[in-house]
Amino acid sequence: MNDVRTAMLPGTFDPPTNGHINIIRRAAGLYGKLYVVVADNIYKKCLFSVDERLGMLREILSDIGNIEVVSWQGLVVDFAREHSVSVMLRGVRALADFSYEFELAMTNRQIYPELETLFIPTDPNYFILRSSAIKELAMFGADITKMVPPLVAQRLSQKYKTEGEC
Ligand code: ADP
Repeated sequence: MNDVRTAMLPGTFDPPTNGHINIIRRAAGLYGKLYVVVADNIYKKCLFSVDERLGMLREILSDIGNIEVVSWQGLVVDFAREHSVSVMLRGVRALADFSYEFELAMTNRQIYPELETLFIPTDPNYFILRSSAIKELAMFGADITKMVPPLVAQRLSQKYKTEGEC
């Protein structure tokens, strides 16, 4: 039987926002062990490489002992199967998130019914935070320091200084 004390929280995290970090910290408090699974998806164009995203998350979350930040190239259900994880957590913001997440949960359930998807509602402070919007704001030099951890703000400003666009 799978270990119910272990959960996973998958995402793209391009880049991690305060909304992600809030969900991850709350999730880590609920389970004995939490895998934060960074999607290494060649079909998705990301601003940050998978190693950059892993590095940022590991540094930001280094004070939490029961979190393991890993990357994964395949389906999340295959990660769950291989690591005996029976709970997948997803953060949800508005209703629009919910319909997408609900469909995803239905699909994953068909493929691997042993994995339960549980939703964690966002903290109201982070209701409108979205990685894509933050990248756009950063690209135009807006102040994003309240939306992302300081390390991410710094990496975003470096990116746009050196690369100019996403
Ligand atoms: P994906 O590409 O898999 O949607 P994301 O990196 O965008 O990955 O998000 C990972 C998880 O974090 C998802 O469950 C998403 O709904 C959740 N999430 C993203 N932003 C927030 C936020 N501001 N508050 C709470 N959850 C969030």
